[in-house]
Amino acid sequence: MTLRGRLTAAFLTVVLGPVLLGAVLVGTTLSTVDRTRSTERLGLAASAVRTSIDALCQQLRAAADAVALRPDPATRAGAAGQVVSRGLATAVLVTDVTGGTTYATPGGPATPWQDCAGVRTGGPVRALSARVDLRDPAGTPLGAVAAAEVVDPAFVARLAAATGVAVTLLDDTAGPDRITHTTETRRVRDAVLAAAGTLDGDRVTATRDGRYVRRLGPAPGQPLPLVLSVAGERPSGLPAALVGAVLLAVVVAVLTAWRLARVTTRPLVELAGAVDRVARGDLTARVPVRSRDEIGGLAAAFNRMIRETAGYVAALTSSRDQLRGHLRVLGDTLASTHDLQRILRVILHSAIAATGARAGAVLLVDDAGVLVGQCAEGLAGRCPPGTEPEELRVPVGTGVVGAVAATGEPQRGRVPPGPTPTGEPWCETYVAVPFTAPGGDAAGRDPAVGVLVLYDRLGVGEFDDDDLATLRTFAGHAAVAVENVRVHEEAQRLSLTDPLTGLWNYRYLRESLRREVERASRFGRMLSILVLDLDRFKTVNDSYGHAAGDAVLAEFARRVRGEIREVDLAFRQGGEEFVVLLPETDARGAATVAERLGAAVREAPVVVAGHAGVPTTIAVSVSIGIAVYPDHACTGAEVLDAADEALYAAKGAGRDGYRVATARPRPTPAADGAVEEIAVPAGATSPDDGLPRAGPPVGPTSATRPPAHRPPTDRVAGDDLPTDGSIDLPADGSTGGPAGRHAVGAPGVTQPGGASSGPHPPRQSRGR
Ligand code: GH3
Ligand code: MG
Ligand code: MG
Repeated sequence: MTLRGRLTAAFLTVVLGPVLLGAVLVGTTLSTVDRTRSTERLGLAASAVRTSIDALCQQLRAAADAVALRPDPATRAGAAGQVVSRGLATAVLVTDVTGGTTYATPGGPATPWQDCAGVRTGGPVRALSARVDLRDPAGTPLGAVAAAEVVDPAFVARLAAATGVAVTLLDDTAGPDRITHTTETRRVRDAVLAAAGTLDGDRVTATRDGRYVRRLGPAPGQPLPLVLSVAGERPSGLPAALVGAVLLAVVVAVLTAWRLARVTTRPLVELAGAVDRVARGDLTARVPVRSRDEIGGLAAAFNRMIRETAGYVAALTSSRDQLRGHLRVLGDTLASTHDLQRILRVILHSAIAATGARAGAVLLVDDAGVLVGQCAEGLAGRCPPGTEPEELRVPVGTGVVGAVAATGEPQRGRVPPGPTPTGEPWCETYVAVPFTAPGGDAAGRDPAVGVLVLYDRLGVGEFDDDDLATLRTFAGHAAVAVENVRVHEEAQRLSLTDPLTGLWNYRYLRESLRREVERASRFGRMLSILVLDLDRFKTVNDSYGHAAGDAVLAEFARRVRGEIREVDLAFRQGGEEFVVLLPETDARGAATVAERLGAAVREAPVVVAGHAGVPTTIAVSVSIGIAVYPDHACTGAEVLDAADEALYAAKGAGRDGYRVATARPRPTPAADGAVEEIAVPAGATSPDDGLPRAGPPVGPTSATRPPAHRPPTDRVAGDDLPTDGSIDLPADGSTGGPAGRHAVGAPGVTQPGGASSGPHPPRQSRGR
């Protein structure tokens, strides 16, 4: 059963119960009162009837006495006539001792008459009589005198009028429902007779139409069989009125109950509907607040709860979206493990989001001890004039971030009013955390490699210790990122360099050769290749030992690096054989470099630690073969072969010298009229821009013997140069790694003693 049904039922029970009870009580009370009063009226009427009949009988007896007192029959007849004429009786009858009629007044009712004191005679009562014996003076019975009053409808009507009730005279000897005379209306007559048939004694009964009935007689002193009835005083429409009133009350109560239940349960129904909508995820559901009562309060509380919940859900959704965004950023970051700038940007952005800062920056310490901005956010308009946010430069030890980097201690606080330290962004509050390379430096200290700094927290207030702790975490990530990139670059560098000499290895030679030939081809430049081989190096090993030979090789490499330009590249091809690439250099320039290299080796014997640590001086020399692209060959491998052959020529010429490869044959003009290739001016003399151009070979020297192919000595098995000069490099295409401490913010490779380079393989530097 629904709540509305229960409320309706309860209301109807409370309201209709008393109504029905009252209706029953009223009906019962009214019936009881009516019966009592009607019974009283019938009792009074019965008494009145008895009294009337008794008085009539006495009157008739007196009349009969008056007649009987006459001594002779003639006077008796006269007296009888007077009695009748005076209205004391309707008729007088004189009989003899045998019962025969002696005299009868004329016009009397038919006999037999009902005697007042006699028993009930059969047949309908036509007259009521009183009888007096007639005797002579001696007392001898002579007969009897009877005076009678006719019992007709008028007689009964008079009885009814005298008593105030309806009177019915029965013919009880013919049957219980035979009527002689009655004042009852025809409509109620049968009901009254039916009710009277069930009665005896003085009992009173009621008919269905509201009449009360009582029997009277026949009895001594009242010989008439009468039925008295009286209409009840109860209003005839009372039961119907009561029923109608009850029905009306029921209808009104039902309507009122339904209305009240609806008004009461409607907010609950609405509340249940809203709860159902909320359960299905609709947080826009609201309940109308219709009143200020408890249910209205419940609705208002529900609305408030849903508003709060929606707020929480929105916050959670936003948090989830943020988490997804962070996961995406994390994924991007993981995908760019070696993109330090990108990682630092992500770290800075996350730190700003986590602490609610307005701006921030990440600075790394460079080799010169200056904090250099790597990435910045929100610093537009905060930097010193002419300084871009990403170009921050703050010397270690200067200002806030400089002090943090110098001391290694994090700082937070408010910048005092006044000019800001040079190079630092303008701010009101700040928090700065240093980060150090994991493991520290060689001395075991942990010098700061950078600083993560945030400016001006959103809202009022300074950065607190929680922000500091958060920032420490991000700074730790930054440190790991920097270290990862450094390690990665170092690994790359090691994979491309020769550990003994620090020069690029044969692997990198192949890639560099391919790239430089391609560059020279595209821009119409020249590229010279020098192949160097130490003379009689086997003797050095044999004489001074292998370790001394290694020391000589390392020293030789150092001198080579010192003699070439920054853009030039030096490689250890294998064993004691080296290669130098000289971009944009013609044969004359290459010859100059070869001379310089030969002199650098020849003029200063190498001092090594000999046996038992005794310094030993070893004189070495080098032979050099030179070939030029595109003069001597069209591919990197061919040019290298040409240089190799030139090296053989130099060896053959007595060593400690250089030779230029033989010029390759020029295509001759075709006999069939083919167009001859137009020569590009180039040669021993550099043009105005100082850069040699490709063209007919102009060499100062020529090979001392025909080129002969010779495979490179001491190469690692499988390192044979591919014909296209290409090599396999790491998949990310990076080509270098730092040999020493790299310059911050510009991941690159520096050969020992050299400067850093960009994303391409670094050049060797002179170091002078
Ligand atoms: P030349 O080139 O003038 O004809 O004489 P060479 O003695 O240098 O002849 P060759 O090229 O045949 O010998 C090269 C020697 O270099 C052989 C080997 O003992 C030595 N060598 C090669 N690699 C290394 C190295 O890594 N360390 C040392 N100590 N010696 C090496
Ligand atoms: Mg050799
Ligand atoms: Mg040699």
